Amino acid sequence: MTENNEEHHSHSIPLNVFEHESQILEMAETLPAEPLLTIDEIQNRFKTLTKEYKKLLRQTQKITRIGDSNQKKLLEAYDKIENQNLKLDRAIREAENANAAKNQFLAKVSHEIRNPMNVILGMAELLHLTHLNNEQKSYISNLRVAGKKLLHVINDILDFSKIESGLLTLENIDFYISDTVKSLKESFEITANEKGIRLNIHTAGNVPSVLKGDHIRLSQILFNLMGNAIKFTEKGNISLDIRRIHKENPDSTKKIILQFTVRDSGIGIASDKHSTIFESFIQADSSTTRRYGGTGLGLAICKQLVELMGGTIEVKSKPGKGSAFSFTAPFEPGNPHIARRLRKQHHITQYQGKPLNILLGEDNPLNAELMVRFLKKQKHRVMHAKHGKEILEYLKKRSFDVILMDVEMPEIDGFETTRRIRLDKTGKFKSDIPIIAITAHTLPVYKNRILSSGMNDIITKPIDFYRLSKLLFCIHPGCSRNKIEPGKSNELQILDSETALKRLQGDMGLYKKFCTMFIREIPEMLKKIEMDIGNSNYDELRKDAHYFKNSAALIGADRITVLTEKIEKIGIEKHNINNAIQLFNRLKIECSTARKALK
Ligand code: ADP
Repeated sequence: MTENNEEHHSHSIPLNVFEHESQILEMAETLPAEPLLTIDEIQNRFKTLTKEYKKLLRQTQKITRIGDSNQKKLLEAYDKIENQNLKLDRAIREAENANAAKNQFLAKVSHEIRNPMNVILGMAELLHLTHLNNEQKSYISNLRVAGKKLLHVINDILDFSKIESGLLTLENIDFYISDTVKSLKESFEITANEKGIRLNIHTAGNVPSVLKGDHIRLSQILFNLMGNAIKFTEKGNISLDIRRIHKENPDSTKKIILQFTVRDSGIGIASDKHSTIFESFIQADSSTTRRYGGTGLGLAICKQLVELMGGTIEVKSKPGKGSAFSFTAPFEPGNPHIARRLRKQHHITQYQGKPLNILLGEDNPLNAELMVRFLKKQKHRVMHAKHGKEILEYLKKRSFDVILMDVEMPEIDGFETTRRIRLDKTGKFKSDIPIIAITAHTLPVYKNRILSSGMNDIITKPIDFYRLSKLLFCIHPGCSRNKIEPGKSNELQILDSETALKRLQGDMGLYKKFCTMFIREIPEMLKKIEMDIGNSNYDELRKDAHYFKNSAALIGADRITVLTEKIEKIGIEKHNINNAIQLFNRLKIECSTARKALK
């Protein structure tokens, strides 16, 4: 083989080919003698072998090239994926930031809208309490109604965006279902009465009294459905039925599944609209907005909340035949001890209703002015502190019956102020003084934070002065106890409407509202108390008698107040059920006398 050949080979054939060549030659030498190959034949064979080898090599190179290009492609693809991952990471971060910003934005917007709304609605409320001619009264009344509607829309929009962006999480709290029912009843009774519609709420016997879940959102769904039922019904009745259902699903065995059905005898909904009404901003009929107003968000919110809870919602309805909205929601079994503690902690329930020494903590001057004016009109004495530090200073100088405290204040905020008050060991003031938080925040998490910080109750802005009056009415001024001594019922008036009216600053409208509510409550309260006595259920007896007592006290039905107070005492002391029977018989008589007097 020549140099040239070698060189030629070395270019086209890798060196190891020569190893093969020598191997081949070696093999040739060791070949058996017979038949012997000639050099030519060997060379020919070698050529064939080399050719084969070159072919193989070309194929190998081709494969390597494909491999190389594949590897390149792979690397490129990998780079691309890496790039996309980076982009995705960035997008996720941006989305997270956007969500957080949206969250903050929502909280801020809600806060910023609620504060001025508080002033607008509050001032309207104050104007309403002044001497006005009929024309002015009607303007103010329109202003109040429109303001409340606007607030409702704002709340819906905020809620809807919260749910849409996944910012809404559910709470898991022990609660009494009877509390939810009670507040629904209180809220809808008056409107139903005014429209001449019967309102029935029925809780089946198989519904446990204490549950664990998000009762605030549950109430929101029920308020929406009952609100719609009243809105779209001109005559007849609306009802709410609550019952426990049992599903086959094995995961749900530990859960208590409740079914809530809101029925009405109103205008009804065409069947082709049954699914679309649950979409946002959709109303069954284009004339709905004109006639009834609304945004079409209520049912969308209901559906989302129900699904978030793990339930389903459906509607059965025919035009002109009324509607039935029903939804299911799973709950865990509740703990009565916790529910009772939460209920006590959350609500100031002692009856009183006298002028109070109020310490108001509020940094916003307009809001402060509004509150001071309102409270003074109600004959309370008010001191105004601009921040937490001032609250603490005032507390050391004077004694107060209650603190109304804006949660967000400069210097020391409401949380810290409450903490310092509750932990106070100086003995300079009552560290257990009732504190009512005032806040423009409506998120349940925030509310829970307020209550767990030691404040007793919450009033949200815009302030519902009716609710605030009711709350203040229940506060015990100084150390003096309830003026009405038990045992003197015969000397008491059936209905001391004069004193009751005075307490309400002569607001006849408000007094009438309380009276209507009271009359409506009588039969059910009597039934409940009778049942509690029959079952010797002292806890429920205490609770029901207490509730009835407060309602009676509010309208000046003094004899009923005294009797129910005595029954309540039996509930607290947990003995003497026979005595309760006697008291109950007298209570029935007093109720029918009071009802006549009220009518
Ligand atoms: P809004 O009541 O603000 O319009 P909703 O989402 O609560 O919004 O309801 C959507 C639509 O569904 C209503 O506009 C109405 O047309 C219809 N609707 C809801 N509830 C009832 C009801 N109880 N009776 C008749 N129509 C109803």
